[in-house]
Amino acid sequence: MLPPGSTIGILGGGQLGRMMALAAAPLGLRVHVYAPEDESPAAEVAARHTRGGYDDRPALAAFAASVDAITYEFENVPAACAALLAGLKPVRPGPKALEVAQDRLTEKDFVRALGIGTAPYAAAATAEEARAAFAALGAKAAIVKTRRLGYDGKGQARVASAEEAAAAVAAFAAPCILEGLVAFRQEISVVAARGADGRIEAYDPVENRHREGILRETLAPARLGAGAGAEAWRIAGAILEALDYVGVIGVEMFALPGGGLLVNELAPRVHNSGHWTMDACAVSQFEQHVRAVAGWPLKPALRFADCAMENLIGDEVERWPAIAAEPNAALHLYGKGEARPGRKMGHVNRLFPMGGRP
Ligand code: AMP
Repeated sequence: MLPPGSTIGILGGGQLGRMMALAAAPLGLRVHVYAPEDESPAAEVAARHTRGGYDDRPALAAFAASVDAITYEFENVPAACAALLAGLKPVRPGPKALEVAQDRLTEKDFVRALGIGTAPYAAAATAEEARAAFAALGAKAAIVKTRRLGYDGKGQARVASAEEAAAAVAAFAAPCILEGLVAFRQEISVVAARGADGRIEAYDPVENRHREGILRETLAPARLGAGAGAEAWRIAGAILEALDYVGVIGVEMFALPGGGLLVNELAPRVHNSGHWTMDACAVSQFEQHVRAVAGWPLKPALRFADCAMENLIGDEVERWPAIAAEPNAALHLYGKGEARPGRKMGHVNRLFPMGGRP
């Protein structure tokens, strides 16, 4: 267990790092943020900040020397950066989680190998392969996704023919996968944590609503049929074990009309669909993550209220005065200057008694 006064290094300067730093403070743990930007939401609330690139080996080595353990708030940490740091200090979650989650093909192969369902998929690096992949899926429509570096719906295209699939892969000019379209009933996620001692704590599955590929709203708990919640937990637990994971993970799933679950995506970090835990649970996902990274025991992931989390995207943040006046709303703003379209500026957790969410 890292004692109070120890320092956790965080790669990345966004709002997730900010909320981790804010959660570390009450435990007496300090945070050193490493990010390429001059100013960032995380650096603003961290004890220390280094501005550096993820390929700047001397700067990364100096950063590692100044901290006791290292984590990250985004999954696209370059593999060479993670390997360098892991040779110097504990990196949690470990490089295996990054390797799996950074590539949609590796991720789907990994999930399937655990006997867990995914959408049907096929790899396609060229227009030719895209035509073949579309035919192999045998579906009327598919989604082309770049294997790497997609987020918030970017690097994705819906296609309705082999020719459209070929054109999409050619336009991305990057290795892709094609996924059969899933006619899901709901999108859900499980945010769960595994401690350094192997103990797992999972929050209640939640229901997520997206618009234009961006998460808009999370409802906690999800309205699931009998057995689906336990199955969602089982899936998250199997993934944590297989990765020998330490920290918080977000597992996005599709709930099917018949009751089955398919895994869509893994996020090897704290997750936007876990922000509700800040106000509705005995321990937030951010404190839970800091505990895991610092080798502290996890706390039970108990929920004591229903919650509807709303992301404040772009100029929606201008509603802050009205939200600040709502009695049951907890407002979280990220300190970002410019409210550009599509930018996550903050979120609000609206609380309801257990079982009382409208
Ligand atoms: P992703 O980046 O993989 O999380 O995809 C972004 C969003 O696109 C998801 O949250 C779903 O709403 C939708 N989506 C992705 N993959 C599929 C699929 N195979 N079938 C249906 N919808 C999908």
